[in-house]
Amino acid sequence: MTVRTACACGATYDLKDEYAGQRLACPRCGAAVEAPALPPPPPVRQQEGGPVFERDLFLLDQRHLAVDEKYSITDGGGAPLLFAERPARAILKSLAIVGGLLAGLLNYFLGLLLLGAAKDAGLPFPLLFAAAVWIRYGSLFVVVVAAMALSPKRHITVYRDDKRAEIVLTVTQDYRLPLLTALYTVYGADGAPLAKLYKKRLRNIFRKRWYCASLSGELLFMAREDSLILSILRRFLLGFFGLLRTNYVIYGRAGVAGEFNRRFTMLDRYVLDLGADRLRSIDRRHALALGILLDTGEGR
Ligand SMILES: [Zn+2]
Repeated sequence: MTVRTACACGATYDLKDEYAGQRLACPRCGAAVEAPALPPPPPVRQQEGGPVFERDLFLLDQRHLAVDEKYSITDGGGAPLLFAERPARAILKSLAIVGGLLAGLLNYFLGLLLLGAAKDAGLPFPLLFAAAVWIRYGSLFVVVVAAMALSPKRHITVYRDDKRAEIVLTVTQDYRLPLLTALYTVYGADGAPLAKLYKKRLRNIFRKRWYCASLSGELLFMAREDSLILSILRRFLLGFFGLLRTNYVIYGRAGVAGEFNRRFTMLDRYVLDLGADRLRSIDRRHALALGILLDTGEGR
């Protein structure tokens, strides 16, 4: 930042910050000029939700050997902050896959039956051909869409600790069938909605972008996969068996606000670091909700 100073003689100077508020001699006419003081720094945004959220660093440690996804959320020194859980709902999910397969089989055999009748009725060839294509390839589409439509929604609950007595945050999956947009809502400790998290599927084929918006639709921040090259490699090498880490850069209104990175350890450990957001323009509750969401299968 520079301090613009003007002298009565008409000369203007852009001075370094350290001259702010000082009396100087004009280099052109020698008269005394006073450099204006610096504007006060913008205030640090007040973080709601309690002292547990008044920080920049959150470590997410996945607890292994559990069917449901469970996370211990700790501070930089390993002290516990919160506990998060996202039930896998494995039985319901298996039933949904069975349901999808049944729907696909129904499409296939009913289609064949109708196609036979249509041939006997002498319908035109292009119509029969299109029907045959649908029976063969459309059935796979039916399997996938029906299984997704029948799958249970997977919500996330963040508790004060692993006793799970007090809820501090909830993230709900809003669409059962996220064909074009995946949408989630973040709720606070009192159950009131705080923000929306979403991604557009078509824009996420190569490089993933997640958005956080206020309830009135105003964009608050965005998280984007760090590198296009790595994103493509992750897609086509299937994450290289976990060796290609999926990292995100978080952008606030004033530019880079933080990052969400996987630490290269034996255990799954993610780090949400909002240290670059010095004014705390990003609500830590929103960012932590997105962090857990990204790590529980939505972002990898
Ligand atoms: Zn002057």
